[in-house]
Formats: sequence, structure tokens, C-alpha cells
Amino acid sequence: MKVKGILFVVSAPSGAGKTTLSKKVTESVNDIYHSISHTTRPPRPDEINGKHYHFVTENIFERMINGGEFIEWALVHGNYYGTSMRNLEILEKEKKDLLLVIDVQGAEQLRRKFKGGCYIFILPPSMKILEKRLQKRGVDHDNDIKKRLKTAEEEIHHYKTYDYTIINDDIDEAVNQLKSIIFAERCRYPNTIPELPDLKL
Ligand code: 5GP
Repeated sequence: MKVKGILFVVSAPSGAGKTTLSKKVTESVNDIYHSISHTTRPPRPDEINGKHYHFVTENIFERMINGGEFIEWALVHGNYYGTSMRNLEILEKEKKDLLLVIDVQGAEQLRRKFKGGCYIFILPPSMKILEKRLQKRGVDHDNDIKKRLKTAEEEIHHYKTYDYTIINDDIDEAVNQLKSIIFAERCRYPNTIPELPDLKL
């Protein structure tokens, strides 16, 4: 019997493959939902409002900050990103797990505000490979790629503050590792308490 849902927080530098990884995992593991963040970044061609992000104006985002609607928020690469409190309701109400893919600043805020939670950091195999992946993705301009690489270098130093690290070299292997972490955490006391009456002599 599940006491309540588990909060999984995944951070990774841009291009480390966290979107593909988290999508594959939430599609193949039961009872875990992907949190949908708010952002002021413009949507990319394949992104749908309300599915990948809630795309909002700076005005709306700032109003939400002032209204205390975010459990965490951060300015990343010049755009606002935040997790609204409503995303977390699923943990208590439905006892389902929630996967948050957020930057290191947001993860730090959550550690202070939210008791429990499992923190996972995704690392690229090398900075050269990270750069190649960002170029191949072709959605960011050269200047943006430079900005993202610089941020990545700073973010990577935070991996030691997370509970688990995954090196995303082979995507299938990384998916298996993230799934294993989820399954292991679900067995961790006191996340799950067995129905004791059935175990009485
Ligand atoms: P992207 O623009 O590539 O989708 O995301 C840029 C960065 O913002 C990534 O590191 C991503 O994890 C982070 N991010 C996405 N949503 C949130 C959020 O709700 N809060 C915080 N703090 N970071 C987020």
C-alpha cells in the first residue's frame, strides 16, 4: 500500500538527453506523471502548449510568482521556468509519483521546501559530446549553444548534491537505470508499507 506519491527530481544540463529520457520512462512506467512547467521561453516548432510546457508571458509569470503559485522557479538562459503548486497535488491526492525535470536552482529550492524526494542528475559522457548533441538538435542559435554550454559547465558541479547520477551515453541503458531508481525508491521504507494484517500468524 502506498502512503503517498514519490517526487522524483531530474536535473541535467541542456542537451544531456533528459527530455527523451524522462519521456521514455513516464511512457513505460505505471503511475508516474511528468510535471508540466510554466515558462516564458517561446515554444519550439514541435512543442504544444499545455503538453510540453505552459507557455506564458513574463507578465503572467511574474504575477504567479507574486501570488505564491510556484513551489520553485528560476531564471534559466534568460527565461523564467517554474513548477506550480498544483503539479504536486497528485502526490497526496492520487498517491501517484511525479517526475520533475528542472534546473539545479529549482532543485535546490525544492530540497529546502519539500520533505523527501529523490534527486537524480543526468550527466553527458563529455563536454564535446554535449556540444555535438546541441548542434545536432538544431533548435538553438550558435550564441544560445555557447550560453547553454557555459551554464552546463556550472551546473555539472552540482551533481554531488543529488542522490543518484546517470551518465547518458547509451539512451536505452540510461532509461533502464532511471527505471531501476524509480522501482527501488518505491520499495524504500517508509514509501511503501506492507499490509501488515496479512502477515500476522
Ligand atoms: P529547455 O528550454 O531546454 O526546455 O529547458 C531549459 C532548462 O530549464 C532545463 O535545464 C530544464 O530542466 C529547466 N526547466 C524546465 N522546467 C523547469 C522548471 O519548472 N523549473 C526550473 N527551475 N527549471 C526548469
